[in-house]
Amino acid sequence: MVESLHSYIRFAIQTITIQRFHVGKPFVIRMPSFLLAAIVATSVQSADNISVLGNKPRWDVLERYQQTITHDEFLHLIDDVYCTHGFAADLIDVNDDHARILMSRQAQKFFTLRFATDDAARKPVPRLWRPAKCLPATMLEKPLSGLKVALDPGHLGGNWAKMEERWFQVGDTKPVQEGDLTLQVARLLAPRLRQLGAKVSYVRNSDEPTTAKRPDDFRELSKKILIKNGVPQPRAEVLDSSDPAKEQTIRWQSEILFYRYSEIRRRAVRVNFKLHPDLVLCLHLNAEGWGDPKNPTLTDTDHLHLLVNGSYLAEEMEFDDERFEMIRRLLSRAFDEELPLADSVALAMARETGLPPYQYPTTNSTTKVGTSGYVYAQQRCLRSDPGR
Ligand SMILES: [Zn+2]
Repeated sequence: MVESLHSYIRFAIQTITIQRFHVGKPFVIRMPSFLLAAIVATSVQSADNISVLGNKPRWDVLERYQQTITHDEFLHLIDDVYCTHGFAADLIDVNDDHARILMSRQAQKFFTLRFATDDAARKPVPRLWRPAKCLPATMLEKPLSGLKVALDPGHLGGNWAKMEERWFQVGDTKPVQEGDLTLQVARLLAPRLRQLGAKVSYVRNSDEPTTAKRPDDFRELSKKILIKNGVPQPRAEVLDSSDPAKEQTIRWQSEILFYRYSEIRRRAVRVNFKLHPDLVLCLHLNAEGWGDPKNPTLTDTDHLHLLVNGSYLAEEMEFDDERFEMIRRLLSRAFDEELPLADSVALAMARETGLPPYQYPTTNSTTKVGTSGYVYAQQRCLRSDPGR
């Protein structure tokens, strides 16, 4: 899979996101906009502090995780995996026998998570996917027997590729569209995984959106967001695509709410409520910088990395829904499965391709984890990937 792609896309970083049953939003996203950063940091719903198009958290769900984790394990996952960039002191307060997690600052409501006293006293972790040790014994030639894998080709491609800014063209050659490439990879990968015994499903298997919404459905919301972010009279349309102020138009904002926020949330719903896989592979082929946007050029820089969920930013932790999803994911112990899996996939891919690991230029939004050198924790939710 990688080899054929490698020769075709010599300019690409290959990114695979490995996720066990994700409750949140699983995608690697590049965000070119200063404004979207502002939107992420500012909720438009006033009563609850919920992220854009997010759902009100159901904190009662966490009751099922009482006494399923020890103090030390919880603290390790908070400090080394999920909250590596710190957070406001009132959000999570870890005590000897319990953690107090802020549900709502305005209402001053907290969720109390009671720890198991020790490993022996730990109750079983409830989850909808199966950890590796619970999978049926496999035969040598079918090592993935019974494993349910969902392939999620990143982006949309097709007629949406330009809108989602995952398109470029060198001279008169065929335009390169990430969404088409990722789908192609998924279709090459699926039969190979099936051959090894896996049950494979697609989160997307066409170049049409999963969400039923379209940009025009978000015009009102876009206007509200822009006004809230200091653009009192936002323009309706983008007049010139190279205009840096295009991000302040209702058109641009509604498009991004469509292809990023709405589409991604819809895919998460499909994974969580329909496909129920043990593992989700999100496929991305990120272009390196291509120089002059009017005359892009190819580069020989090639690399590989894998992302697992973690490394939430302090401002992301502020949102009630993001904080809730993070805690739920932490308690599901997805990381314990994602990390060894990502490390072994990375090493196998590195062996086949000879690609070096990608190095993020900063550690502001990622944290290197594992032992292979290829794996990073990142909260990929609707956020830019500064490494592209
Ligand atoms: Zn991508």
